[in-house]
Amino acid sequence: MKSATTPDGVRRITRDWRKEGRRIGFVPTMGALHLGHRSLLERARRECDRVVVSIFVNPLQFGPAEDLTRYPRPLARDRKILREEKTDLLYLPRRDRLYPADFRTRVGVSHLGELLEGKHRPGHFEGVTTIVAKLLLAVEPDRLYLGQKDAQQAIILTRMARDLDFGVRVVVCATVRESDGLAFSSRNAYLSAEDRAWAPKIYRSLTEAAGQLRSGALRRPKDAAALVRRRLSRGPGRLEYAVAVHAETLEEPSTGDPILLAVAYDLGKTRLIDNIHLRRWGRS
Ligand code: AMP
Repeated sequence: MKSATTPDGVRRITRDWRKEGRRIGFVPTMGALHLGHRSLLERARRECDRVVVSIFVNPLQFGPAEDLTRYPRPLARDRKILREEKTDLLYLPRRDRLYPADFRTRVGVSHLGELLEGKHRPGHFEGVTTIVAKLLLAVEPDRLYLGQKDAQQAIILTRMARDLDFGVRVVVCATVRESDGLAFSSRNAYLSAEDRAWAPKIYRSLTEAAGQLRSGALRRPKDAAALVRRRLSRGPGRLEYAVAVHAETLEEPSTGDPILLAVAYDLGKTRLIDNIHLRRWGRS
């Protein structure tokens, strides 16, 4: 596995690959790799000739009260996983090179970045789009692999890639879950034993509501969101939102629209998000 710590270092390697006609897949991560990340790596490995992975805990996307300093950074373990997954290049950017003291530029996707997660984490998506734009400009991949787990992030990055003509195809991969349904997340490691035992209820309530919408037992998406809210209202933490929105625009859905049932839940100091994407629903 090759490695690089600067944009120029990455570019030198990927430009050579491109000259040889290789298809390059890119998986950006914040490390603390788990089976969710692995599914992205496997998909990239299957579909591309070269796989590039970045690990960077991006300060720009963390709010002042968030977990930037305590975010897990098990680098030796991550390297081992990346070698097992046959990663070709690990990009480990140096923070001072990506964000020198006089760094001033921000990339943002208006409106989409201010809804849902954006409302509760001001500036978060601008941090995400800025770093991913920088990473894409260094790696210049053919395909960008993202997880459905972070549905709004995937929507926003797809929009950014189109609007700014990055020429990259975005591939969104299904959410990978533990056997009890909890979506894998690097942040699950923070949960206390009791909170971890309760956490699968989030996905259970989503599947119940999605099932009722699919079967026609619930007729309106907002009734499905209300059911999720009822199911999660007496938990140990705080429900931030449970919504049913148009799966691409995040607006109020009309009959027949694809729907995203999405939840954010504060459990102790850990913020969990999850969602279900429903392409078809209702009896008709
Ligand atoms: P992160 O390291 O949390 O920034 O995530 C890196 C990428 O992995 C993002 O595209 C995430 O959406 C994706 N990802 C994280 N958790 C999962 C999961 N449980 N299933 C599928 N993809 C995931």
